[in-house]
Amino acid sequence: MTRHPRAGTSDRRGPEDTAGPEQRRGASDRPATAARTFDPGCRDCARLAGFLLSVRADNPGYHCAPVPPFGDPGARLLIVGLAPGMHGANRTGRPFTGDHAGILLYQSLHRFGFSTAPESVARDDGLRLIDCRITNAVKCLPPLNKPLPEEIRRCNRYLAGEIHALAGHSSALVLALGLIAHQAVIRALGAKRSAYPFGHGAEHRLGHLRLLDSYHCSRHNTQTGRLTPAMLEAVLGRARVLLGP
Ligand code: SF4
Repeated sequence: MTRHPRAGTSDRRGPEDTAGPEQRRGASDRPATAARTFDPGCRDCARLAGFLLSVRADNPGYHCAPVPPFGDPGARLLIVGLAPGMHGANRTGRPFTGDHAGILLYQSLHRFGFSTAPESVARDDGLRLIDCRITNAVKCLPPLNKPLPEEIRRCNRYLAGEIHALAGHSSALVLALGLIAHQAVIRALGAKRSAYPFGHGAEHRLGHLRLLDSYHCSRHNTQTGRLTPAMLEAVLGRARVLLGP
């Protein structure tokens, strides 16, 4: 079993902001998730495995399997989304690739030097991430983009493994895209959820790790203006400042 740091602080954003006393609690109320190496053949969630079979029957060319993390295995920045999209990651086999959700994300990553190109098209497009890795809290496509709580819990072991891979760095950063990703990171670390409230631009410290939050870059959020390019760039710009050049 892999152990992770558990104590920390939480900042409700603004580099100059400081956490209040109530946010400085960080005691764990459960153990950190036991880390496991990603298994590309995992079928442990029966509902999701069955759904993938039905989607594959209708879309023979689709990946329709757990989607592995993408990027630099030694990265200091780990970006965590929710789950593969039907015609995006579930089709191409790469997180945030092939549908609307990745457009703004990859543009912003490129702007701050985390990728070699501003778009991700397919697994063989030659794109490389630089000091950055992208994954999802749930590796398999869920119906209606809504994983069940037990599916999020079950898949948390793989996320815990990906977070554990950051342990060798003195400064490491996790960027959670959306509330579910944020909560999955907190779970993986065995930290107390109430001590680390989610908010766009929120910044938390958990042991040697920093956790940044952003609204998810879904089509809905970007088209309704809940997440603008400037908002995501502000978060990734902060990540760049924290990690350095
Ligand atoms: S969601 Fe995760 S735990 Fe569940 S079947 Fe897919 S890879 Fe396995």
